[in-house]
Amino acid sequence: MMEQTLEAAKMSDLIFVLFDGRVGITADVEEIIRWLRRIGCKPYDEDKGLRGSKQSIDHRNSNNEDNRKQRKVVLLANKLEGDSWNHSFEGLSSSSIIMDHLRSATRLGFGEAIPISAEHGEGLADIAVIIQNSLAEMKPSKNQDDGVTTSSTLNISNKPLQLAICGRQNVGKSTLINALLQRNRVICGPTPGLTRDAISIKWSWKGRAVQLIDTAGIRRIAQRDHSDSIEDMAVQEATRAIKIAEVVVLLLDAGAKFLSRQELSIADAVIREGRALVVVANKMDLLLCSEYSKDEFVAAVRKQLEQRYPMLRKTPVLAISALNNAGIEDLMPVVFTARDRWANVIGTGILNRWLSDVVKSKAPPIHDSGRKIHIKYILQTKGRPPTFLLFCNVRSLPASYVRYLIRNFQDTFQMFGMDVRMAVKESAKENPYLRGKNRKIGIGGTRLGVGGAKNRKKRFIEVLKSTGSRPKKGLSRRFSRQGKSRS
Ligand code: GDP
Repeated sequence: MMEQTLEAAKMSDLIFVLFDGRVGITADVEEIIRWLRRIGCKPYDEDKGLRGSKQSIDHRNSNNEDNRKQRKVVLLANKLEGDSWNHSFEGLSSSSIIMDHLRSATRLGFGEAIPISAEHGEGLADIAVIIQNSLAEMKPSKNQDDGVTTSSTLNISNKPLQLAICGRQNVGKSTLINALLQRNRVICGPTPGLTRDAISIKWSWKGRAVQLIDTAGIRRIAQRDHSDSIEDMAVQEATRAIKIAEVVVLLLDAGAKFLSRQELSIADAVIREGRALVVVANKMDLLLCSEYSKDEFVAAVRKQLEQRYPMLRKTPVLAISALNNAGIEDLMPVVFTARDRWANVIGTGILNRWLSDVVKSKAPPIHDSGRKIHIKYILQTKGRPPTFLLFCNVRSLPASYVRYLIRNFQDTFQMFGMDVRMAVKESAKENPYLRGKNRKIGIGGTRLGVGGAKNRKKRFIEVLKSTGSRPKKGLSRRFSRQGKSRS
């Protein structure tokens, strides 16, 4: 935790050091202050603001974080709400103690401490002003990330890929993030539950922006310590992380050959939220002397996922060892491919050619009503997750046939590890994307673009009749090409 605190301070331009105003400066506060001095922190000066740190902001693009010498520190004396705060002005006994505390804070060399009460909101306006002024000074570099950028070629305008790392406690989520970032950015260790918050980190992989979300491990509800509301909040955060993620990495411990219920429930949440899933089996180094091989493990994971969730067939499954940095380099290319396919919008022409081929190789069965099913055309209604509408002469297709279509679609467009959604809509229209003499569309079966003013007028009158309105006089002029150009 100490290391992480120092790491966070190194990446900051403005650092608030809080101490208990009723207790005063303790040894651990002095220790923190010593660290901050060592990394070149300076007191925040109201008149100068962050001035002098501009040069250091530019250093962010260099890999040497320690070059940033002008981090500014503000001391905040907390818990000085209500009475204790008022007393300090009224000269009552507690006031002198508090004033002593504030004076001893000044001796630390980081200016006067601002008295606040975080719980009651007192003094927060002063902090707001400092933040606002600092932000105004920072504007030119507002798109900078938190310093983890390793390449100056980062295209800061590209939208970061939202990547959530989920899994049970202790499977190595934090170790994986540290391995990806090549630094100790998040706390990891054998004690379960070290990660209590979903931690979000901006990062750049080969010039492509990534927002990494390290989530708290999800435990079974029964195993959860409900007296500990922080853990419940951590689980909510992890669930929220899946919602905002584009790609979810489900991290498994290779030591357990079977997917646990929590792991399956994470996969379930990923499908429900329509995200792309990449499964990563960690701790492969421990498998060296086990009875099953890496490939057998990967095949077993795939089989279990597919048995439970048929749409997750052929989900990318990687085997790594985060601790030994083995297989880490394969992860990000797979993640980016998953995101690109998941967000892809396929052209309607391509889709309909695919549909015509797939229907040719296996025609839909006869409908319950005895009618021959005719799938006329397909449209992608949205990406993220890929969602399609099938226009048919019936209201619904047999579930087995929709599954066949989705399976074939996933194989053709390589969309694995995500839910592909296909809905059916009954439509009288023919496929407008097919060319040729059968291309009929519109009321009365008129050919699209054929018939001129006469047919346009006829169609318009029919629509008016169907809505109960009466056609107005002079329609023929409005619908003739001449009339149109005149108006
Ligand atoms: P988290 O709770 O999922 O974030 O797990 P941590 O990243 O804190 O790791 C839990 C423990 O597993 C730590 O003691 C790590 O050193 C260990 N660990 C993580 N990855 C590996 C790995 O690839 N191999 C081995 N043998 N241990 C690992």
